[in-house]
Amino acid sequence: MRNRRSALAAVATAASLALTLSACGQNSEGGSEEDKGGPEGATIGIAMPTKSSERWIADGNNVVKDLQSKGYKTKLVYGEDDPDQQVAQIENLITQGVKALIVASIDNKSMNNVLQQAKDADIPVISYDRLILGTENVGYYASFDNEKVGELQGDYILDKLGLKDGSEKGPFNIELFAGSNDDNNTRYFFQGAMNALKPYIDKKQLVVRSGQTELNQVTTLRWDGGTAQKRMDDILTSSYKTGRVDAVLSPYDGISIGILSALKSDDYGSKSKPLPIVTGQDAEVASVKSIIAGQQSMTVYKDTRELAKVATNMVDALLNDKEPEVNDTKTYHNGAKVVPAYLLEPVAVDEENYQEVVVDSGYIKESDLK
Ligand code: BGC
Repeated sequence: MRNRRSALAAVATAASLALTLSACGQNSEGGSEEDKGGPEGATIGIAMPTKSSERWIADGNNVVKDLQSKGYKTKLVYGEDDPDQQVAQIENLITQGVKALIVASIDNKSMNNVLQQAKDADIPVISYDRLILGTENVGYYASFDNEKVGELQGDYILDKLGLKDGSEKGPFNIELFAGSNDDNNTRYFFQGAMNALKPYIDKKQLVVRSGQTELNQVTTLRWDGGTAQKRMDDILTSSYKTGRVDAVLSPYDGISIGILSALKSDDYGSKSKPLPIVTGQDAEVASVKSIIAGQQSMTVYKDTRELAKVATNMVDALLNDKEPEVNDTKTYHNGAKVVPAYLLEPVAVDEENYQEVVVDSGYIKESDLK
């Protein structure tokens, strides 16, 4: 695992340099003679899962912007977290004659038929951030090191509880939340977090009073914050009549906000009952504000501007009969084949480094955090 990761980091650095170089190439070559007669002007279909979360809005916009800068036209659709609607939208894009598809799926197993239609029409498919399962007809995968996302969350909890380096502190109470069970990333995030947390659960330095420790007991359908809030409410009522929660593993900022609402309704955040450590993911504005206000503890930042570049470079390569750049050819088996992937590095963010990582990098405007 460690070896894979350091190798991955080295490749990622080299590859991000290559990406930068190829991006420069694009600019200087844009509109040149060599481009004429190529795929320039072709329309690319982009299917995103939902507008209910900031990150997917940014993803859609960034993919469109990058493709347009490479001379492509775009059709961007959002499936509003409804798998049937998303499949119908992709069928439509195929009928409309798109030359490639970039898909962030809602239900990773609902795509077999529609991707067969894409294959029959000779349309390459890039699985965007979430791996599409059970079909050969997905060419490449652009994502982050998803297991590392979970490890960053789990490690953060251990660190803040002082549970590292053989410490015998504890026991501390923790509750676990995971993402949507139809999203392949969910199990990678959870596995990563449990790599860090499970040894301490086994040693009883971490106690899950609800008893809900298996992935299928802790998932949150469609990553819905309200669903997570309700589950946290139920757990507080049933398992914390006495004592208090010290940490909550949350996989995504929208879920973290729901969990924090449940906690605050139960008087957490008052002098006698401090808020537990609560993790998150995506560096959404509401969560970064919550971190600044001392409520959510951390989030995992994934630069979706870079992800858009990776995916659009893949499309551009494929339509120019070139091999897309990848840095992982082992990790992501989708049940039909190993999908060659380009994985970016996630970064843990808390009150110490949010300014540098998400504001100074231009990901979030300082004024949006006021
Ligand atoms: C993404 C996360 C996101 C979650 C909910 C996952 O597939 O990788 O970044 O938080 O979906 O939208």
